[in-house]
Amino acid sequence: MMFRRAPFSFVMRRVVEQTRELDGRGGEPRAGRVGFVGLGNMGSVLAGNLVGAGRTVVTHDALGAGRSPEGAVHVPEVAEVARRVGVLVLSLPDGAASEQVAREILAAPGRLVRYVVDTSTIGPAAARTVAGLLAGGGIGYVDAPVSGGVAGARARTLTVMYAGDGDACSAVEGVLAGLSDRRRRVGDRPGMAQALKLANNFLSATALAATSEAVAFGLAAGLDMATMLDVLNESSGRSAATEDKFPAHVLTGRYAAGFANSLMEKDVRLYLRAVAEQGGPAAIGEAAGIVWGRFARAEPGADFTRIFPFVDGS
Ligand code: NAD
Repeated sequence: MMFRRAPFSFVMRRVVEQTRELDGRGGEPRAGRVGFVGLGNMGSVLAGNLVGAGRTVVTHDALGAGRSPEGAVHVPEVAEVARRVGVLVLSLPDGAASEQVAREILAAPGRLVRYVVDTSTIGPAAARTVAGLLAGGGIGYVDAPVSGGVAGARARTLTVMYAGDGDACSAVEGVLAGLSDRRRRVGDRPGMAQALKLANNFLSATALAATSEAVAFGLAAGLDMATMLDVLNESSGRSAATEDKFPAHVLTGRYAAGFANSLMEKDVRLYLRAVAEQGGPAAIGEAAGIVWGRFARAEPGADFTRIFPFVDGS
């Protein structure tokens, strides 16, 4: 077989590209190497997906290395992650945590980070604040909340909805592809993806609370839960609550979706705050907020699917 020598210009282009990958000056910096801060129920799976996609992943969590996926390198400080990678992904509980980590990134001496991808649900106002802070240090921010639960993250069917300026979004495309197979750019400004995520979780929280009340009503009328779910799923009352959460977690008694009630309560609260800022309607949202607030206060940290026994009083 004959091999043709690659043209000199092609070889030189690859050398330049590889140098950029190594020194973080161009393209997607330190290509292949990604930072991940926040290794909870969701973050530990997403970081594992990046390892599975062939990335070298440098992780950090305030609680230590316990949930760092196999194959990743855990380091004891955010600053050390910031020194080792060009793109850093966050999966943190709320806006205060994202802001704190952003400040730690900015303060890291010799940092390489050029882009932060925030998969946490923090609401539009916090996303704009964190984006502004990072922009002051020359770091791009992609607002990239996720929906589909821990099971969806494992199956790579999780939806990553993301927003940010064109340069930042294209620079982190490869990292987003490592997180999940489902991705949608929904806007050109940080905060827009958060707005969509909050709208989604308002609907999800309301459907789960409403389904809990409907099933409690049916059980009291003598119906069987499995029969109710079968019929609801062939009828107009179906939702992700009847199709997924009830069959997988309530009917089986597993209650292990991997999403805490306090996080869902936070999402409904952030939704109501954002709606109030815009002056929109919130009658149903306020009712859902009351139910989720009561549940989160009564059983802090419980799996969110336990809202059924809470509502049912069982
Ligand atoms: P979690 O509470 O299980 O994990 C959060 C992790 O962040 C913890 O391990 C905690 O130690 C770490 N952390 C907190 N502050 C930190 C800091 N300052 N520095 C370093 N680490 C810090 O939460 P989760 O369920 O993994 O959710 C993470 C985010 O993803 C939340 O914003 C949540 O709303 C969102 N989300 C979760 C799910 C889900 O199904 N779990 C689904 C969609 C979106």
